[in-house]
Amino acid sequence: MKKPFVTLEQLKEIIKEHKTPFHIYDEKGIRENARRLKEAFSWNKGFREYFAVKATPNPYLLKILKEEGCGVDCSSLTELMLSEALDFKGEDIMFSSNATPPEEFKKAAELNAIINLDDYTHIDFLNGITGIPETICCRYNPGGVFTISNGIMDNPGDAKYGFTKAQMVEGYKKLMNLGAKQFGIHSFLASNTVTNEYYPILAKILFELAVELKETTGAKIKFINLSGGVGVPYKPDQQGNDILAIGEGVRKAYEEVLVPAGMGDVEIYTELGRFMLAPYGHLVATAIHEKHIYKEYIGLDACAVDLMRPAMYGSYHHITVMGKENEPCDHKYDVTGSLCENNDKFAIDRMLPKVDIGDLFVIHDTGAHGYAMGYNYNGKLKSAELLLQEDGSVQLIRRKEEPKDYFATFDFSDILKDMKYE
Ligand SMILES: *Cc1c(COP(=O)(O)O)cnc(C)c1O
Repeated sequence: MKKPFVTLEQLKEIIKEHKTPFHIYDEKGIRENARRLKEAFSWNKGFREYFAVKATPNPYLLKILKEEGCGVDCSSLTELMLSEALDFKGEDIMFSSNATPPEEFKKAAELNAIINLDDYTHIDFLNGITGIPETICCRYNPGGVFTISNGIMDNPGDAKYGFTKAQMVEGYKKLMNLGAKQFGIHSFLASNTVTNEYYPILAKILFELAVELKETTGAKIKFINLSGGVGVPYKPDQQGNDILAIGEGVRKAYEEVLVPAGMGDVEIYTELGRFMLAPYGHLVATAIHEKHIYKEYIGLDACAVDLMRPAMYGSYHHITVMGKENEPCDHKYDVTGSLCENNDKFAIDRMLPKVDIGDLFVIHDTGAHGYAMGYNYNGKLKSAELLLQEDGSVQLIRRKEEPKDYFATFDFSDILKDMKYE
């Protein structure tokens, strides 16, 4: 059974000050999980997690992760700016972008971030903008399908990212000619994997590639970035990943492949987003309508603007109706938001306890790719973000949007200048 990290009593206190809907994050859970990850890879001297900022771009949360030793993985100008504001710099920043605009490479270079090139042609592109830095990384795409023991995981051959094998070899040579001194290898082959096998299998592929690249090009390999993809159990019957077992699996591959090749000094990096934060965020909403037509509907005060994954991917997010945890789930509902889009449903045919208007809903695992993916469709305004701190107090870490935020992009125009926002 999935248990919220806040109680009904706590929520009742919180909503006195902060109206639903809001996202709330669990500082204690975030810190403990970050420490477990660090422990899992403590066998590797240079290990570092670069948190994927896109998953949850909130400076208060980035600061917590910074305190736990994490760097940041950025892929846009504003993510770089956010990181700069928090004093991440140089090797604290991995810039893993694709189809990159020139000004973003410029900003990354200005911050001395490690640049992870997505394509062979980006070598000349970057060289023409900022020149080639001494440390540089290339993203690898092996093509084909990526399988592990329990089946096909993903389809790299259809993915837009990365260099082919032949391009990696040519790319390294070219980069060395242009002044690169040490290299990284990056690859992201499967998303939200709920198995301890993904990282070890990926690691073995990348370690073998590293040995080959070193032998064929003479390049110094500084790090291997296993990127994101370690998932979380969104469904209550799923077994979560054991990060210690994953770290151990990567260590075995390291000792089997890299150590015998004289590459026992290669640093391992990760770029996890979901694994770092998803379970430590809830979307809290109130049931404001019930509707009986061909199906039974519960209408919440939150909508897909606050959490897009169910509408976009059909993703499952577990729901707890607060205070009714021990009641039988004998009512079947579609739980909806208010967008004029029939896919604005947090759950379809979900068995829940009988819901009453005013019930507080906790929608689980929204700490990553939750708030961040939101949009403003229907002119709906995005919710606030709160932090449940380790001492039990609650801090507002992003206010909810107001109409003036929605209209801010007309600030060049007189049409809305007399608008009253309240
Ligand atoms: C999205 C992304 C990540 C994080 O992925 P998760 O599934 O959240 O772990 C890491 N690296 C890159 C380059 C990404 O695009």
